[in-house]
Amino acid sequence: MTAQPILQVVDLKKHFPIRKGVLQRVAAKVHAVDGITFHVNAGETLGLVGESGCGKSTAGKTILKLIEPDSGTVRLMGERIDALSAREMWPYRRQLQVVFQDPYSSLSPRLTAGAIVAEPLENFGIAKGKEARERVAWLFEKVGLRAEQMAKYPYEFSGGQRQRLGIARALAVRPKLIVADEPVSALDVSVQAQVVNLLMDLQEEFGLSYLFVAHDLAVVEHISHRVAVMYLGKIVEIADKKSIFATPKHPYTEALLSAAPQPDPTTKRKRIILAGDVPSPVNPPSGCRFHTRCPYAVDRCKSEEPVLREAAIGHQVACHLR
Ligand code: SF4
Repeated sequence: MTAQPILQVVDLKKHFPIRKGVLQRVAAKVHAVDGITFHVNAGETLGLVGESGCGKSTAGKTILKLIEPDSGTVRLMGERIDALSAREMWPYRRQLQVVFQDPYSSLSPRLTAGAIVAEPLENFGIAKGKEARERVAWLFEKVGLRAEQMAKYPYEFSGGQRQRLGIARALAVRPKLIVADEPVSALDVSVQAQVVNLLMDLQEEFGLSYLFVAHDLAVVEHISHRVAVMYLGKIVEIADKKSIFATPKHPYTEALLSAAPQPDPTTKRKRIILAGDVPSPVNPPSGCRFHTRCPYAVDRCKSEEPVLREAAIGHQVACHLR
């Protein structure tokens, strides 16, 4: 029997209205997330990757219910959470935590670092007073900070330390799933590796699952077990990390990988230059959304939308030709 995924997302959609005129009529819609389906297994990291504006961060925020979805279902450990009110959602908030891109703006500047990490412990009734302080000290050590730094304020920490603080706060309530939204992209390259390795160590120690939203393919390759590639609000390919990076099937994934720097200079990928800019998500192309830039496009691609289907075991792709 296969274990139940921690997170199951089915046909999730989020369109943002563009309002115009005195009456603020809806003139158009941004198709930010347009029917995505995927799951995250227990103890696994799913990398959600794509260029800026592809909808990956909106997908993360919609799953977290920081933005309400238009349609589709989100199940956390088998329970539907997409239609829950804020009050009904409260018990699930403990299981579903977030680490944001910019640790500074997500940490209250008026609270000490210790109070920031203690806050969720108190809010969820897990610990207070001396017990909370001891737990926070333990969490500080777990994320590579020192207990005496609990008295400092966020501005007294470096970017990497602030992100460790954000991770400690997310970890405080012992969640099952952490949505990490570009968690290292604001950090220096040397610090990025330390924070990614910390996330991997914590995953192993606490059995965490991650939905890791990022645009940097090297980071995604390092941390992910499986990878989902998004283009203009759609998932175009999902597979285990090795298959995606060694044998990408979707032309967009091929192009993304061909443009990424290679850690091993002896392995060269043929650079695929994509024609044109990413089309607007307000008016996405008909048929396959990638057809305006795809070097392999045929007539069928302009009118018929490819569905995400299994092209090999555990490897799904949305392309008529692959
Ligand atoms: Fe390219 Fe056609 Fe495949 Fe889309 S369906 S990726 S346009 S070949």
